[in-house]
Amino acid sequence: MANKNAKHKKNVPGAWYCTSPDDENGEGCIACNVCYSAAPNFFAEDENGNAYIKKQPTAHADVELCKEQLDSCPVSAIGNDG
Ligand code: SF4
Repeated sequence: MANKNAKHKKNVPGAWYCTSPDDENGEGCIACNVCYSAAPNFFAEDENGNAYIKKQPTAHADVELCKEQLDSCPVSAIGNDG
């Protein structure tokens, strides 16, 4: 489960977030590019290739797309507080 205490600073406010690569629990983003390649409207990469949420999904299909990324992330670096 993504560490909500280690959110990437660039996440836009809202339920969805990505965690920072310096997450002390070792669950931070490893810049694998899965999420921002598959759902570029909602996930973006920072200057180091680490992911953050650039737009919160609202439509059902968009939420489902983001859930797919949450399930696909190899290090549980995507979370949802909602
Ligand atoms: S899928 Fe996970 S590890 Fe890969 S870029 Fe996205 S948040 Fe980072």
